[in-house]
Amino acid sequence: MNIILFGPPAAGKGTQAKRLVEGRGMVQLSTGDMLRAAIASGSELGLKVKDVLARGDLVTDEIVIALIEERLPEAEAAGGAIFDGFPRNVAQAEALDAMLSKRGAQIDRVIRLKVDDAALTQRITKRFEDQGRPDDNPETFKDRLAVYNGQTAPLLPYYEAQGKLVEVDGMGDIESVAKAIDEAMA
Ligand code: AMP
Repeated sequence: MNIILFGPPAAGKGTQAKRLVEGRGMVQLSTGDMLRAAIASGSELGLKVKDVLARGDLVTDEIVIALIEERLPEAEAAGGAIFDGFPRNVAQAEALDAMLSKRGAQIDRVIRLKVDDAALTQRITKRFEDQGRPDDNPETFKDRLAVYNGQTAPLLPYYEAQGKLVEVDGMGDIESVAKAIDEAMA
């Protein structure tokens, strides 16, 4: 089963993806984690994307599509992928559909975690204090939220038209959101 965890930054996608990895042996494909790893390693890719992440903008579609494509065989072998932070615009969604279809696979569910802006801001303030991720600072976070609303949220009708979209209340504690996700995957 291949699912997309969909939602704005700090909606809880990463936390819930990790739980599904532990519980079901699926593979988490987080383009944000991959890009941060590239930056930490000082690779050519890392140097190229460092400033883009720091600004809260999106890196090019070509870069993230290649990162995902490279990991698809591993996810397939594990029995499924959890896409976390990808796709982030319609071009990426179309590329993902094409890559999966070439392998005889598809997206089965798009699980949207709904969290209101006030709660997101509260969560991000805490994450910034705890982890110090540079793009979690309040100013950049505002920009990331604007990018989500402008470029990523328009994907919702794309998946709704395919009958794949399921909405989950992401405002509760980790366990209750996890339970709702399990129900959405049943
Ligand atoms: P995330 O950890 O998913 O919030 O991603 C952190 C940052 O990585 C984003 O603000 C973007 O700069 C970049 N990024 C992650 N995934 C993508 C993607 N699918 N397309 C473009 N940029 C991305």
